[in-house]
Amino acid sequence: MSQPSEMEIFREFIRKKGLRYTPEREIILREILKIHDHFDVDELYLRLRNQGHRISKASIYRTLPLLIECGLVQEVYQEDGHMHYEHIYGHEPHAHFRCLSCRRVEEFQDERLEEVAEEFRRKHGAEIKRVRYELLGYCAACLKEG
Ligand SMILES: [Zn+2]
Ligand SMILES: [Zn+2]
Repeated sequence: MSQPSEMEIFREFIRKKGLRYTPEREIILREILKIHDHFDVDELYLRLRNQGHRISKASIYRTLPLLIECGLVQEVYQEDGHMHYEHIYGHEPHAHFRCLSCRRVEEFQDERLEEVAEEFRRKHGAEIKRVRYELLGYCAACLKEG
């Protein structure tokens, strides 16, 4: 049994919500899947524009919550007042370290994060959909420079 593709998941989700499946939304998702790093709306907008797509930032802002809701994209961190995202489907869950000086973002994995979520779930009877864990500080290179 093969896993459904991102496109299939998104189409099915849109259908279940009773929304219209627009080519625009598909173009946005396709572009996001090509970005193998964290991105923000401005970056995504520019990438689309450079390829000749006329997609407004407003449509990107409208599409992102749908992609998050169906589990294809997640919010990663807020910087300078705007959110950065990444696509997550088919990727191992990971946490982030963000350097406050050079703004480098590093990903790391630690199974203990899942354990904390599991323990919380048991204790509080909650349903955990996503684990988001972020360390903020200064990277070794920045510390060296003082
Ligand atoms: Zn740094
Ligand atoms: Zn990441």
